[in-house]
This record gives sequence, C-alpha cells and structure tokens, in this order.
Amino acid sequence: MTHAGEAIRSTDEIAFGAVRLEELVDRAALTEMLESFHALFEVPIRVFSAEGKLLAEVAPPLEMYTYLGHFRPAREAVQQVVQAVKHRSLEAGGEAAERCVTGARYRVLSITYDSRELGRAILGPFVPAELAQPPEALAALDPGLDPVELARLFAAMPHARDERIAAAARHLLRTLDLILFSGHKALLTSNMHLASVRESYRELEDKNAKLQEAFDRLKELDRLKSNFLATVSHELRTPLTSIIGYSEMLYEGIAGEMPNEQREFVGTIREKGEQLLELIKGLLDLSKLESGTMSLTKANLDVGPIVADVAQTLTPTARKKGVSLAVSVDEALPRLWADAARLRQVLLNLTENAIKFTPAGGVVTLSARVTLMSAARGDDDGGGMVLLQSRRPAIELRVADTGIGIPPEERGRVFDAFYQVDSSSTREAGGTGLGLSIVKRLVEGHDGTVSITDNQPRGAVFVVSIPCRRATIS
Ligand code: ADP
Repeated sequence: MTHAGEAIRSTDEIAFGAVRLEELVDRAALTEMLESFHALFEVPIRVFSAEGKLLAEVAPPLEMYTYLGHFRPAREAVQQVVQAVKHRSLEAGGEAAERCVTGARYRVLSITYDSRELGRAILGPFVPAELAQPPEALAALDPGLDPVELARLFAAMPHARDERIAAAARHLLRTLDLILFSGHKALLTSNMHLASVRESYRELEDKNAKLQEAFDRLKELDRLKSNFLATVSHELRTPLTSIIGYSEMLYEGIAGEMPNEQREFVGTIREKGEQLLELIKGLLDLSKLESGTMSLTKANLDVGPIVADVAQTLTPTARKKGVSLAVSVDEALPRLWADAARLRQVLLNLTENAIKFTPAGGVVTLSARVTLMSAARGDDDGGGMVLLQSRRPAIELRVADTGIGIPPEERGRVFDAFYQVDSSSTREAGGTGLGLSIVKRLVEGHDGTVSITDNQPRGAVFVVSIPCRRATIS
C-alpha cells in the first residue's frame, strides 16, 4: 500500500503507531468500499487523511449547491460550512454534526485504528427527515434566490432519518476497521519481507566487498610475483652469461691447456650454466606473458620453412636419442599472420618434448595443414560475419610422437607452470615444467588453441590451431 517513491519505513515504526491511513488502504479499494456504502445508504461520503487530504469520495454533485454557487453570499456561506466540517473538533466518541445553510446536515466520524486517529469520514450533506422545508434564512442570503426553486432543489437533496445515519456510520466504521486491520497486516508482512531482503542484500554486499578485497590482494601478489620473477631472472642472466662464457673459454683451452679431468668439470659447469640460462629465459618469457608486456612482432609468413627449420635444428638431438624425425607439410598452405620467432619457439618446445618423452626407435612427426576452427569472440576480421560463418580457416600444426603419452586426466594440467606429469626424483627426463605454459600463452597470443590427443597405437599428439586472417586466404 506504500506509494511508489515514498521512503520505506521500518517495521517497528509501522508496528508501533506511526502508520498512516493512505498506507493501510489504497485509494481504489477505499473508493470501491465507499461506492457500495453509497449504493446502500444514498448519502454522500468523503474520506480525508489525518492531514486533511481527500483520499476518496462518492458524492454526486447536488443541484442545490450548483444553484447556490451562482450567488456569492450563498456560495461563501456554503464554503464556510465546508471548512467548519473539515476542521470540526470531535466530541467524545469521535463524532460531530454540522448544520449547513441549506438545512442539511453533515456527520463527521473519526477513523481510528489502535486508538489513533488516522483520518475522518464525512457523511452528508443529507436532510433530516423531520425537515420539510429549507430554512427561511437560506432564501434571505441573497435577494436573487428564488424560494420556489430552492424548495424544489431542497426536495431533491438526499433525505435520511437520524437512525438511518447512525446505522450508516456504524456500518462504515466497522467496515473500515476490517479493511485497516488487513491492510496493517499486509503492510507489516511486506515490510518484514523488505527488511529481510534488505538484510540479505547487505550481507551479500559485505561478502562481495570482502571477495573484491581478496581478489585485489591476490592480483597485487600476482603482480609482485611477476615483477620479482622478472627482476631476479634479469639480474641472474648477466652473471650467468659470464659464467658460461668463461667456462667455454676454459673448455676451449683459450686460457691454456687443462688436464682432461679439469676440462670435463669445466664442461659440466658450462652445460649446467646453459640449462640454468634456459630456465631463466623461460621465467622471463612467462613473466612477460603474464604481465602482458611481451610484444609479438607479427607478419604474413609461410609456415613451411619454420617447420623445416625446427626439424633441422632438432635432428641431431633426435638422432642422438635414436628417434626418427619426420616432416609433412601440405602444399599451398595459406600464409599466417604470426610472430616467426615465437611460432618457432612453440614448435621447438613441442618437438623437444616429443623427442624427450619418446624412447629410442620411436618416431616424431611434425605436420602442417589447413583446417577449419570455430571463430573466437573478438575476431578482428570476423565482424558481423561471425554469426553467418562460425568456423574459419586455420593452420593446424601437429607434433605427434610414439612416446609415453599423457593420460587424459593430466592433459589440462600440463599447461600449468612448473607442472610435470611425473615429478618424482627418479624422473629421467630433465626440464623445468615451464615450456608448455609458455607454448599455451604464445598460441593464445595468436588467437589460437593448443590441445592434446592420443597417438595410435601409442604416444601423444599436440595440436596447435592458429586462425588465418581473411585477407591472406582470399
Ligand atoms: P618440461 O618438459 O620442462 O618438464 P613442459 O611444460 O614442456 O615442461 O611439459 C610439462 C610436462 O608435460 C612434462 O614434464 C611431461 O610430464 C609432460 N609432457 C610434455 N610433452 C610430453 C610428450 N610429448 N609426451 C609425454 N609427456 C609430455
């Protein structure tokens, strides 16, 4: 029953008295009730709020008052009565009667609820049954008033006996009491509901704020971690380059010949130094990728030569392990909009892994072909066409091996930084666990995807798909 825009008051306020008539019953319901009252008793009726605001009325215009309205003294006399009626102080029992210049009466009733006056109902004007003629004073108000017309209009006014008016008043107050009671109940219920909704909302807001705080803290920690990684890696790189350089010179005998055993030790220092440098480069790459500061230098390029170059680079490694390396590149591949060095890094990483995890006698195959991939959101050249064409040409690069394979449940995790399927100390293959996480981020930097499937009868296949730019395939 609260009007839109009105402030919602607390349930306590409403429960303990500060309730208003217009909050307990809406105007439409009140008017409907007054209409049935009027149909029953044929007496005009109006209901006012505690502040004197008209809330509802069923009072068809009476010809008598329209007529009097044409004569100024009569009009003013009627207006005085109306004001008096509205502001009449009520006698004990909450009722008062007011007499009009027309001889008609008003009955003023106090609408109380829970011992508080919420407003007033005014019955009338009605002519008491015992009055057969308008008072003589009425015609005397203005010389222009026609006594015959006055008598006719007087007869047409609603007439009612006192007992009938008393019965009407009782009926009205009882009905209002019922309406107010149920209105109050509904108002309390809806306010309690609102209060509990407000409380849950506040709790949610609190939780949200805490979550946001935790999220911000984590983000800050993550940023600090990336900064730390970048700084430490960078600072390690310089001295390490010297260590590798000097051990290389010693190894090569530039500073004089060394006994074999010493040379072997220096060789190990160089080898481990190079491993460390790889790790540091990986960390630097990862922190750049994580912080979004790695810039890719993309150009339109042929994939075939990159695949061939990677195969050539790793042929000695594969041969040393007794693994054969095969290449299969489809003819007439479209060009790819990519960073050549980073694409090479992706392939190199996957192929190194494939060789590493394939026992002697196995085969590693690098292949490239055209395929279709689902258009990713935010496509730079899909535009409105994405809706019509949800798949677009892409280049698929596969690195398949016949090695130990990757169990399906591990396939999502191997792309996490530092994750290794078998991290036990007895693990034969070296590595840092950074390679695949860098691969994944680099591929994503090309709007591409990387996934793992089984190779038959054994081994793993890494599938990298990178979408082609429309311009390059037309
Ligand atoms: P690293 O090779 O340095 O350990 P990666 O991030 O490149 O780190 O790989 C993570 C892990 O994924 C590897 O340690 C290995 O357990 C698994 N893995 C990667 N490639 C293969 C593959 N071709 N065959 C089997 N396991 C693989």
